[in-house]
Amino acid sequence: MSIRITQNNCVGCGRCIEACPGNLIKKDAQGKAVIKHISDCWGCTSCLKECKTGAISFYLGADMGGAGSTLSVKSKGDIREWCVTSPDGSVQVIEVNKKDANKY
Ligand code: SF4
Ligand code: SF4
Repeated sequence: MSIRITQNNCVGCGRCIEACPGNLIKKDAQGKAVIKHISDCWGCTSCLKECKTGAISFYLGADMGGAGSTLSVKSKGDIREWCVTSPDGSVQVIEVNKKDANKY
């Protein structure tokens, strides 16, 4: 399991840095998030859920039925958009209202 940070989408808010229990994410000289030791990431997805801009992608391997797809999250107010991008570039978006998170 691993993540990738797309620095063009990073606004340097630092939320992922605070969220990572392994202290794996730092800021580079430009104030953008960077993960240095990717092999130490155990895929907890804490950083993914904190990033409002979708800058962090989570690799969905075959063991998760992802077949190479990636998952990213964007937030707008109470709405989280979970975006699954397939290797062919197609994107599926699942919207979840955070206020409904404990309803199920
Ligand atoms: S997935 Fe978890 S362990 Fe990996 S970088 Fe994000 S917060 Fe850290
Ligand atoms: S949470 Fe997203 S936007 Fe904020 S520093 Fe991390 S990668 Fe950048």
